[in-house]
Amino acid sequence: ADQAREHGQLWENHSAEMAGSRDWRFSLSGELDAAMAAEHIWVAFQPKLDIAAGRITAAEALVRWTHPERGDIFPDSFIPHLEKNGRMLDLTLYVLDRVMEQARRWSLAGNPINVAVNVSAPLLVMDAFVGAMRERLDGGTLLPSLLTLEITESASMEDPERALAGMRLFAEMGIRLSIDDYGTGQSTLSYLKHFPASEIKIDKSFVLAIRDNRNDQAMVRSTIDLAHELGFAVVAEGVEDAAVLEYLRALGCDYAQGWHIGRPIPAKDFAKLAGIGIVS
Ligand code: C2E
Ligand code: CA
Ligand code: CA
Ligand code: CA
Repeated sequence: ADQAREHGQLWENHSAEMAGSRDWRFSLSGELDAAMAAEHIWVAFQPKLDIAAGRITAAEALVRWTHPERGDIFPDSFIPHLEKNGRMLDLTLYVLDRVMEQARRWSLAGNPINVAVNVSAPLLVMDAFVGAMRERLDGGTLLPSLLTLEITESASMEDPERALAGMRLFAEMGIRLSIDDYGTGQSTLSYLKHFPASEIKIDKSFVLAIRDNRNDQAMVRSTIDLAHELGFAVVAEGVEDAAVLEYLRALGCDYAQGWHIGRPIPAKDFAKLAGIGIVS
């Protein structure tokens, strides 16, 4: 109950902040370097449950900005401004480096956790990003077996040929690729099959109301079946209660992510949660 209250609180703040005055946010990209240096920008880890194993084996990295005056700012508020100002390369590498450092530590402690980092589509084909990734791979600070890159379905569909070319480069580096927010774009899985991705993530909009919505049920069921036939693992996001988890288990969904499994939390809290291992 305490946790549920905390969720509520967090999301109330989130909406209050979203509804608030827009002006101050325009200056955020100018504060990025100082905020990164001061570690006001940090990475939250949200657990992904391996449904069949009943164990947390992976996580998604979600960036947070704890602003000294504004409090916690969520990515939907600042990422659009960083995109507009060409700052996503720096932010993404900052997130990636912290994620790899953390994943390496967990792995050395006997808990190999694969962590997914969100990458916006323009970065995927940017020479500076590809070069920075290759440099880290060669230098041994990027551990491909512990990393997944998430690319949204809609963004990769804006220019599928370019997205495919970018994805190939990372797949060749041995990095897993995931198609995020699946179902919100206009593409079909049989088309996306040409992408060298390992996983698709069914968007939370289809999962949240699955109990009452037959269309969502049909969408999720058929996506899981076709995805498996095409060789993708399937993650469902937005799993907020036990009944939805059971429903997904019955459909053969591979991974679940959402408040029922765990919120996005600081690394040290994640380690405790994943150490316990079993979620029922
Ligand atoms: P996303 O990649 O689709 O991430 C999932 C979002 O759903 C996260 O919001 C997460 O906190 C939220 N969520 C998780 N479980 C539940 C649940 O059970 N119910 C509900 N209603 N929501 C849930 P968040 O952290 O605010 O991130 C929003 C978006 O910002 C992300 O959407 C992603 O597109 C973007 N983002 C976050 N971190 C990064 C980053 O480091 N780089 C880039 N390029 N984008 C990021
Ligand atoms: Ca994502
Ligand atoms: Ca998503
Ligand atoms: Ca999303």
